[in-house]
Amino acid sequence: MKTLIHGLLFEEIVAAVQELGAPAFRGKQLWQWLYGQRVNAWAAMKNLPADLRLKLEENFELAAVKQLEITGEEGETRKLLAGLGDGECIEEVLLASGERRTLCLSSQVGCKFACAFCASGQAGFRRNLAAGEIVGEVLLAAAIWGDRPGNVVFMGVGEPFDNYDEVLRAIHILNHGEGLAIGARRITISTCGVIPGIQRLAGEGLQIELSVSLHAPDDATRSRLMPVNHRYPLAEVLAACKVYAEQTKRLITFEYTLVRGLNDSAAQAEQLARLLAPLPARVNLIPLSPVEGFAGETSAPDVSRQFIRVLERAGLNATLRDSQGSRIKAACGQLRIRRLNA
Ligand code: SAH
Repeated sequence: MKTLIHGLLFEEIVAAVQELGAPAFRGKQLWQWLYGQRVNAWAAMKNLPADLRLKLEENFELAAVKQLEITGEEGETRKLLAGLGDGECIEEVLLASGERRTLCLSSQVGCKFACAFCASGQAGFRRNLAAGEIVGEVLLAAAIWGDRPGNVVFMGVGEPFDNYDEVLRAIHILNHGEGLAIGARRITISTCGVIPGIQRLAGEGLQIELSVSLHAPDDATRSRLMPVNHRYPLAEVLAACKVYAEQTKRLITFEYTLVRGLNDSAAQAEQLARLLAPLPARVNLIPLSPVEGFAGETSAPDVSRQFIRVLERAGLNATLRDSQGSRIKAACGQLRIRRLNA
C-alpha cells in the first residue's frame, strides 16, 4: 500500500519532495495544495512540475477516506459514513449551527473498551486509524462544508488514547499554521479515562481540550457502566486530570450520560459535585441515546433538571447537551453498527 500523503507532517512533506529530487519549496507548495486549496487530485496541483506530480502519485495515496453515505441537509446535523482503503468503514458527524461548524471524528475502527451503553464497543475492535485517515476525515467534511471545521472533537468511534501516536500526529497536521490551522484549543480529545494518555498529553505543551467520560460518581457504579474503571479507577483518573489542568491551564470537561435510576439521583449529583470540587471542571450532561443491547433508559427531563440544579448550587458549571445526533441515529456509534447489522 502507498504511504498516505495526509499522514505526513510539514517537515516530512518537504523531505519527501526532496527525496524525489525536487527543491524544498515544492514541499511548501504541495502543503498548500493539500491544506490551503484542499484539492483531491494530483493533476490539480498546477504549479508543481508534471514529473514531480507523477512521482508523487506513484509513491503516495491522496484519497485515503472516501464518502459512502451522507444524510441530512446543509445547515443541520449530518452523519457521514466513510470507507477506508482496506474496506473498513468509519463514521463522522458534522454539526452545524449558524456559522459554527464542529466535526466529530473517529479515532479507531471499533473500540476495545466496551462501555455498557455505547454501540461502538458492542461492535468490537477492528483496528487503529492512521493519522492520514484521521486527517482525511477532516478533509472530507471540509469538502462537504466548503470550508474547514472551526472545532474538532474526538467523540466518534474509538478511544483516542488507545491510538495516541496517530491521533497526536493528526493533531499536529491539523494544527499547522500554514495548513488547516485548527488551533489546539479548538480540538477536544474525549477519553474514557485512559490515564497514561492523559499524562502524556499533559506533557506535550499543547492546550488541547480534555474531556473525560465519567458517567458515575463512585467506583462501583462506574465499573458497571465502564469496565475500564477496574484498570483506571476514579480517584486515579481525577488525580491525572488535576495534573493536566495545572500543566495546561485548561478547564476539564466531564461527560456524564444520565441513565434512569442508575446514576441520576440528587444524592449522586451531590457526590459528583464533591468529587469534582478540587478541579477546574465543567460538566456536560448527555441524555442517554437508547442503544440495542443496553437495557438502561433515558432519564426523565425533570430528573435531569434536578441533577443539573444540584451541580449548579454546588458552584459547578454544568450544561445539558441535547443529543443532536440521536434523531438521525448518528449518536455515539450508531451509524457504523447499523451498517454492520445491514
Ligand atoms: N472513547 C471516548 C470517545 C468516544 S465516546 C470516550 O469514552 O470519551 C464519546 C462520548 O459519547 C462519551 O462520553 C461516551 O460515553 C458517550 N456515549 C456513548 N454512547 C452513548 C449513548 N448511547 N448515549 C449517550 N452517550 C453515549
